[in-house]
Amino acid sequence: MRRKPFEIGGRQIPPGSRQTVDLPVSVLSDHTPVTMSVHVVHGREPGPTLFVSAAIHGDEVMGVEIVRRLLRMPSLDTMKGTLLAIPIVNSYGFLNHSRYLPDRRDLNRSFPGDAIGSLAARLAKMFMTEIVKRSDVGIDLHSAAIHRTNLPQVRVSPRKPETMTLAEVFGAPIVMTSKIRDGSLRQAARELDVDILLYEAGEGLRFDEVSARTGVMGILRVMRHLGMVKAKGIAKPQVAPMRSSSSFWLRAPAGGLLRTVKTIGAHVECGDILGLISNPFGEVETEIVAGEPGLLVGRTNLPVVNEGDGLFHVARIRADDDPAATIDLLAGQLEEDPLFDEDEII
Ligand SMILES: [Zn+2]
Repeated sequence: MRRKPFEIGGRQIPPGSRQTVDLPVSVLSDHTPVTMSVHVVHGREPGPTLFVSAAIHGDEVMGVEIVRRLLRMPSLDTMKGTLLAIPIVNSYGFLNHSRYLPDRRDLNRSFPGDAIGSLAARLAKMFMTEIVKRSDVGIDLHSAAIHRTNLPQVRVSPRKPETMTLAEVFGAPIVMTSKIRDGSLRQAARELDVDILLYEAGEGLRFDEVSARTGVMGILRVMRHLGMVKAKGIAKPQVAPMRSSSSFWLRAPAGGLLRTVKTIGAHVECGDILGLISNPFGEVETEIVAGEPGLLVGRTNLPVVNEGDGLFHVARIRADDDPAATIDLLAGQLEEDPLFDEDEII
């Protein structure tokens, strides 16, 4: 029996075809219509429905590039199941280089949303109805906030062993099992029994090649694992990711100018100095010292800091983990992949 077309926004996408559908969100004050655009790849043969979303935080543009590259992958031509790709969920924030919506709300604290609520609540509600409810699995792409950078990582709140397997198959250097925040997409999706992998990589308002490649390959690996794309050309990660179930922030003990001496991916030992804060006259200097060991998974890039600012994000890992080897192997594998020959960002 022939597969049914996929219906969205009043459009019908026949099996074996792909289309971009603009879902109306609202109209700006100057009469410009705002849409959330979804690219639907509806496979000829049945299979799971996967959504891939980015820029829920409008300034986290890394995921937008990941979706762009994903949609050019030849393996989508023979795909099974359905892919819903939403490169920019929060158009308002994206246009303004801002995390938020114009009503200053954080979309990822506004789920599951409300059709007659705030702008953020309305957008959240639409995303749940049109995308999440119709999917089996979702991959939501984020980066660190502006002026911060994250080591590529998958965050997941596993209830089923299968979700953890997907997170590991993705092949980012570390899988972090983190608590779910109230109002987050992950929390709302869980209510509908849709599993979400949250990919965090790179810096707000910036592209970087390692984050892009890890993200694109991670999504393809998940699709391969779900049986959506053929295995050919999609290599499994050469080493299992590290796992972490807790992390902590080192904060600025004083305001001043920060010089960092460790960056993301560094293995931190207890007592290591990660950075130094001094005043502009160089008269006072405070060391930022790690009180316990771990892996540096995030840090600030802004040298001007106030007391209490989060400077370094350290994940607790197992004592026998070898972060340098894991990160080198995974990055080296992607560096050689011919899939990315045309795309490299320097
Ligand atoms: Zn984010």
